[in-house]
Amino acid sequence: MIPKRSVFYPWSGQGQISPTTVAGADGCWFWDDQGNRWLDLHSQLGNLHLGHQHPELVAAIQDQASQMCTIAPSFAVDVREQAAQAILDVSPGFSGASQVFFTTGGADANEHALRMAMLATGRHKVLAAHRSYHGATAGAMSVTGDARRWAVDPIMSHHTVRFFGPYQYRSEFHSTNESEECSRALAHLSSVIDHEGPHTVAALIIEPVVGSNGVLVPPDGYLAGVRTLCNEHDILLIADEVMTGFGRCGDWFACDSFGVTPDLLTFAKGVNSGYVPLGGVVLGPRVADFFTDRPYPGGLTYSGHPLACASALASINILERDKLVSSAQQLGEEVVRPALLELAQRHISVGEVRGLGLAWAIELVSDRQTRKPFAPLTPPGSVTPLMKEVLDAAKSSGAWPLAVANRLHLFPPLTISSDELDHGIAAIDSALTKADELVQR
Ligand code: PLP
Repeated sequence: MIPKRSVFYPWSGQGQISPTTVAGADGCWFWDDQGNRWLDLHSQLGNLHLGHQHPELVAAIQDQASQMCTIAPSFAVDVREQAAQAILDVSPGFSGASQVFFTTGGADANEHALRMAMLATGRHKVLAAHRSYHGATAGAMSVTGDARRWAVDPIMSHHTVRFFGPYQYRSEFHSTNESEECSRALAHLSSVIDHEGPHTVAALIIEPVVGSNGVLVPPDGYLAGVRTLCNEHDILLIADEVMTGFGRCGDWFACDSFGVTPDLLTFAKGVNSGYVPLGGVVLGPRVADFFTDRPYPGGLTYSGHPLACASALASINILERDKLVSSAQQLGEEVVRPALLELAQRHISVGEVRGLGLAWAIELVSDRQTRKPFAPLTPPGSVTPLMKEVLDAAKSSGAWPLAVANRLHLFPPLTISSDELDHGIAAIDSALTKADELVQR
């Protein structure tokens, strides 16, 4: 037995939880010490693009470990340069003058992107969206736009200004279609910028497809409109692709899907399926040039850790060789979308399904007419008892999606087969039958 009480678990009252003891994992599956097996429909927080224990990824780490486990970030080593180049090669629209700054995860990637933007512009404010998550360190949390921020607000530092992004199903702009939602969301953002004083705004940070706040896919033209507004006011655009990057949404990056090149792009998770902690910032030419003749005031002991870089390099090669990015798009469009739309027709608890690639959300309601949420939209972290019942129904049917607020999130590994997806969809069907029962109770 793992001594559970020795670990301080995140986002939890320590006396209120009983974590499942995971005994092993392989491919798209993991299991406990009681003989229960689950299809991993959330990829361990959207992490495992290549699934559990991918033999080539394990071998790449072992191989690097036998050569050089660690070396300070101030030294140049081949594996670091090669990993950075491989990331630049797949990044959206970045030219030869771009560079990669390595961190150990997504939050610190965003910390550094914000710092770089403030230094490069000499401005101090940051625009960030409600319904966003950017990480749990102080700066990343201060630009986060969800309930995880509330309890720590008083200790935050950045001058963050928040705006609403598009969310047609629960429009803040009273719009009746996607194109209205797009133009009204852009008009709102433009007005926020004008009222803040554009000359005070260093950067706008955005998830190109909002992840943990509901897989909100922006309408066509929205991200391009954001890019135009940033250009008009000389505001740097930071794309947080921690959740969406490396094929999750059916393109290498979600920015690709919308034809937008940010000034800074942050990544983590799918860069190496989280086998060794790794994140980073891709610096476009404008910010990279700024630090040519000035020292950048920031660094991390584990920046560009050789084991992490070796796994990133191997991971990008595997994603490319096995065409997993296009297969994520195909599975999303040909298997997941039709299956979820069919479930939505049959289950009265489903308000909306949305997503792209292998990133999907099923939004649950207790009344389809009024769209009353099935569970609170912004619980401060934990899964509510109602959603726990729905999640438990999926788990009893052998699949483990993520339950967030009033939604089930499906982020399976990109290596998932269509048979495995069918198994997962059947489990979701059972979970929705439970949700229907609870709605009618
Ligand atoms: N940004 C986004 C969009 C995320 O989804 C997350 C984590 O889920 C983060 C940043 C924070 O990443 P990390 O947990 O690696 O610090």
